[in-house]
Amino acid sequence: MEKLSNFIDGTYCPPVSGSYIDNYEPATGKVYCHIPDSDDKDVEQAVKAAETAFPVWSAMSAEKRGEILVKLSEGIRSRMDEFVAAESRDNGKPISLAASVDIPRAISNFHFFATAIEHFASESHYMEGLGVNYTVRKPLGIVGCISPWNLPLYLFSWKIAPALAAGNCVIAKPSEITPYTAYLLGKVAQEAGLPAGVLNILHGLGGKVGDAIVKHPKIKAISFTGGTKTGEYIARTAAPMFKKLSLELGGKNPNIIFADCDFDEMIKTTIRSSFANQGQICLCGSRIFVERAIYDKFKTVFVEKIAKSKVSNPEDPEANLGAVVSKPHMEKVLSYVELAKEEGGTILTGGERVLLEGDYSEGYYIRPTVIEGLAYDCRTNQEEIFGPVVTITPFDTEEEVLMMANSTMYGLAATLWTSDLQRAHRMADKIQSGIVWINSWLVRDLRTPFGGVKASGVGREGGWEALRFFTEPKNVFVKY
Ligand code: NAD
Repeated sequence: MEKLSNFIDGTYCPPVSGSYIDNYEPATGKVYCHIPDSDDKDVEQAVKAAETAFPVWSAMSAEKRGEILVKLSEGIRSRMDEFVAAESRDNGKPISLAASVDIPRAISNFHFFATAIEHFASESHYMEGLGVNYTVRKPLGIVGCISPWNLPLYLFSWKIAPALAAGNCVIAKPSEITPYTAYLLGKVAQEAGLPAGVLNILHGLGGKVGDAIVKHPKIKAISFTGGTKTGEYIARTAAPMFKKLSLELGGKNPNIIFADCDFDEMIKTTIRSSFANQGQICLCGSRIFVERAIYDKFKTVFVEKIAKSKVSNPEDPEANLGAVVSKPHMEKVLSYVELAKEEGGTILTGGERVLLEGDYSEGYYIRPTVIEGLAYDCRTNQEEIFGPVVTITPFDTEEEVLMMANSTMYGLAATLWTSDLQRAHRMADKIQSGIVWINSWLVRDLRTPFGGVKASGVGREGGWEALRFFTEPKNVFVKY
């Protein structure tokens, strides 16, 4: 069976311990490769390589660094089919989704920051009669990038690309549940001519190699995307070491639907915002609030369409949903369906595991699930489920729906459906979230700030925000 390797100092190498862990294919429930069980010794090797590479990489012109990153982006594009197949197999998502969202976005991430760095400028502040301040933004040095399993290469590259563009050397760790495309990225980095030691990719468990990255004194910043509990632990560990921290954490996003919306457009998009990637996108709207005047119509049309969704193996071109990412995750999601019943909810469709046939009989499939009749403040409506499960709740007034929407500990993204422009602005202003989509969902412009408030995170990614995070400003004053 295939054994993946770490990518350190420009070459693939086994973990120092010689230990490996199993990697499961969600579609079949079977182990299909082994990945390094790396630890602090591998981190030490990667830090040494990065330390050696940093003076050369950081002194290179932004234009030259950008050229190499464009080649990296093109390298992924030229291996499109390989990356798409690997992402789908590793994560369980339909091939069609990996081909239309995950891999194209990873290509864009590298291309975007490769070119953005040439336009990145710093400020100067003139003081009348006294002199002038100018600010220089320098790379931090060695930085750690830790990413989750739901959009593996998409989120991995969203961190690595700005870190490298800004002149840092990177120690990156993908999720141990979806390591494969990060493993392939090493080959592309070699082919693109990225100097050895600039990007180091380590595989293994969060509590082991991830923890060693967070604790390493020479790693100056941690950019982390993952669960809120993990983010809290990382903050507790890294803050006393005065590391820069960017934390992109969990969500429990409201999708607020007013009676005056474009109904057909709203239904089409709400199906995606509820169940794309099996509901495993931090931006999915898992709490759907519908104005009472159209609640029954919404319920009938939505449930009828969802009940017809095809849950199938990821290679099936007609699959609307593939497998969820792992057995423990499937069990967690199904346990929330049981909790919803205990809390008085009614399952309108779904609510169970789907057993496919043949090779896929042990895969982790869940029927998309719609639940109604729950209080807005019950656990099902407050805790992140992160699977193909949504609740629907009627509302009467703007004040009432705002109160319910803002009632969770999270504040990542919100969606609003209305044709009343004033109401849209009024609501967007009062919703506690880092991102608001009006009459749309998941429209992403890579220049915009991305991130959440409350327990959904600290800091912002995207555009200048990311380049500012990965640089340290130094102000110089010159007296006349
Ligand atoms: P997770 O927190 O379990 O793991 C994320 C990453 O952190 C993995 O690489 C893991 O190995 C590593 N890790 C775990 N423990 C660690 C530790 N002690 N020290 C260092 N690293 C550690 O999250 P997950 O289950 O992989 O991902 C799902 C979560 O990610 C959900 O909560 C989802 O909302 C969130 N998410 C947020 C965003 C966002 O942009 N805000 C995007 C995608 C996913």
